[in-house]
Amino acid sequence: MSDSAPAPALESRGVLLGMDLPRLTEIVASAGYPAFRARQLYHWLYNRAAFDFSEMHNIARDFRTWLAGNYAMGHLEIAGVRESTDGTRKILFRLSDGIIVEGVLMRERNWLTQCVSSQAGCAAGCAFCTTGYDGFHRQMTTAEIISQILLAKRVFNDGFCPRNIVFMGMGEPMLNLDNVIPALRILSDPDGMAIAARRITVSTAGILPGIERLARENLNVNIAISLNAPDNDLRNRIMPINKAHPIGSLISACREYPLRRRRRITFEYVMLGGFNDSLEHARKLAALLLGLPCKINLIPWNPDGRLPFRRPSDDTVNQFQQFLHDRHFIASIRYSKGLDIGAACGQLAGGAAARARERLDKEPRGRR
Ligand code: SF4
Repeated sequence: MSDSAPAPALESRGVLLGMDLPRLTEIVASAGYPAFRARQLYHWLYNRAAFDFSEMHNIARDFRTWLAGNYAMGHLEIAGVRESTDGTRKILFRLSDGIIVEGVLMRERNWLTQCVSSQAGCAAGCAFCTTGYDGFHRQMTTAEIISQILLAKRVFNDGFCPRNIVFMGMGEPMLNLDNVIPALRILSDPDGMAIAARRITVSTAGILPGIERLARENLNVNIAISLNAPDNDLRNRIMPINKAHPIGSLISACREYPLRRRRRITFEYVMLGGFNDSLEHARKLAALLLGLPCKINLIPWNPDGRLPFRRPSDDTVNQFQQFLHDRHFIASIRYSKGLDIGAACGQLAGGAAARARERLDKEPRGRR
C-alpha cells in the first residue's frame, strides 16, 4: 500500500470489500471524515475495481493513509489460470486461509459469462458433481464472492465486468445467502458494479427456504434449479437434498416465485447415460413443468473417472430435446465449455480444493 507507513498484517485490519454504502458511511464518519468520502470509496471499490488505495486519486491523501492503515481491500489471490482451446478460462482463487476455489470465464460471441463460487466445497453431495465429491470446507464471505468478479474485470477483461454472472461454481448459494445477498446487492447496484440484475442467475439444488428468502428480497435476479430428475425416486438417488426438499414442494415454490414479465425459471437437467435420459423421463419432466414459465437446459454429463456415470449419446440427447420441443418447451442442449481444462459443469474443484485442504491439514496449526 503505497499511501501508508508499513501496513499492519492483513489479519489485524478490517476488510472493505463486501461493505455496503451505509456501512462505509459509518466507518468514515467514525474516523471523522466527511460522508461524501464514503461514496467515493464505494465507487472506487466496486465501480472502478481499485486494487490499491493509491489508485483512488480523487480521495485526499490523509484519508487514503488512514484507510490503508486500518483496512485491507480483501481481494483474493489468483493461484492459477488454465485456458481451454475454446477460449474458456478456469481461474483458481486462493482464499486468505489458503483454500482454493475455482471459477470459470466463458467467452460467448463478444461477451463474457462468469461462473462464480459461493462456498469452498459443497455439502449437498450431488452424486454427479466433483465439488460435492470433495466435500464442504467453509462459507465464502461477501468480499470473497465479489472479489472473483472484480478480479475478472481487472485482470481478464480490460476493466469491463463480465456481462453475465452465474452462481453455478462451487457451492450451494442458497445455503450461504447471508453472504450471497449482500453480494447481489453490490453487483446489481448501478453505483456499485452495475451488472443488470436480469443478467445475474443464482442456481440451487432446491433449497426451499433459500428460494423463498430470495423471493422476499425482491432482487430481481434469475433463479436456476438444478433438477436432473423428473421424480422423487430418481432424484433421491443422485441428490440427497431431495429428501429434505422433495420435488413436489420444489416445483410449488417455483410456481410461486415472483417472476418479472417475460422472465423464466431455468431448469438444469444433467443427462446421465442410461439413468435419466429416456423418453419416459422426458415425458415425466414435461408433465412436471407443464404451465410453468421456464426454459430447460439439457447438459450431457461431463465424464469424471471418479464418478459412476456415463455420457449419453448425441442421438439420445437430441431425441430428449425434440420431445420437449414438440410439447412447446424451450429446451437447449448445453455442451459445456472448458471440458479439456476441467472447467465444465460439475467438474469444478476436481481435486484442487481437496489438495489445498490436504496441505493445510498437514501444516502445524500455528501456521494457519
Ligand atoms: S451440483 Fe451444486 S449443489 Fe450439487 S454438489 Fe455440486 S456444487 Fe453442490
